[in-house]
Amino acid sequence: MDLGLEVCWAAGYRSPSQRARRITEAWFGRRMYCAACPSPRLAPTPGSTKVVDFICPQCGAEYQLKANKGAMGRRLRDAAYCPMMERAQANLSPHFAFLAYDAQAWRVQALLLVPGHFITPDVIQQCKPLSAAARRAEWVGCFILTDNIPADGRVAVVEAGLALPPDTVRLQWRRFAHLVHASADERGWTVDVLRCVRALGPELFTLREFYRRFEEQLAAQHPDNRNVRPTIRQQLQVLRDRGVVRFLGRGRYLAE
Ligand SMILES: [Zn+2]
Repeated sequence: MDLGLEVCWAAGYRSPSQRARRITEAWFGRRMYCAACPSPRLAPTPGSTKVVDFICPQCGAEYQLKANKGAMGRRLRDAAYCPMMERAQANLSPHFAFLAYDAQAWRVQALLLVPGHFITPDVIQQCKPLSAAARRAEWVGCFILTDNIPADGRVAVVEAGLALPPDTVRLQWRRFAHLVHASADERGWTVDVLRCVRALGPELFTLREFYRRFEEQLAAQHPDNRNVRPTIRQQLQVLRDRGVVRFLGRGRYLAE
């Protein structure tokens, strides 16, 4: 993967922000492959599409690109809050591609994919509304809080200026690709329980310990659910089937 950004891709554009956008979009369109299927290319979507920038011609996966110069932040600025939240609640979020580039060397330093099925409402944070005097007064943006996404949902394509092999990227993507077809509620549960398991680190834990640490929090996140404990057990089975936890018997588990 060629990580160089060509300044000529912005020929005809003057404003630095427009030039940066053109250049990073051109790079993504030329160099990026689909992580969800074997397609070697993604196609740009027509300019009017609100929350989608690229689409896979083979599997239809939709990606939104957000580029920033400098280091990759933990809070990544995204587009308008309301449409983003609506799509997240309906499990229709596009996949995100967060790109960080070195503006002196014009090189991609990091590219992080977050599959849309990991974009649950609690990873979206509303920005402070623009002041009434601002040009787009009603417009409210949002941030994606990467710390709230379990590591499994942060798929690195380029890290510290080095591209990872596409096979590695696609393998990580595939592990939770089934969530694309899950209901918003089911997906929310899987992602939330996964986040708890990851918070425990790679270690042995018991069901009782899991309840003690996370039952209250999970119940608050899913107020309509009256069967929190059975749902936790069912989600641990889902994670066992994905190779995330091992069942050791007698209510003991190992996070891997
Ligand atoms: Zn694809």
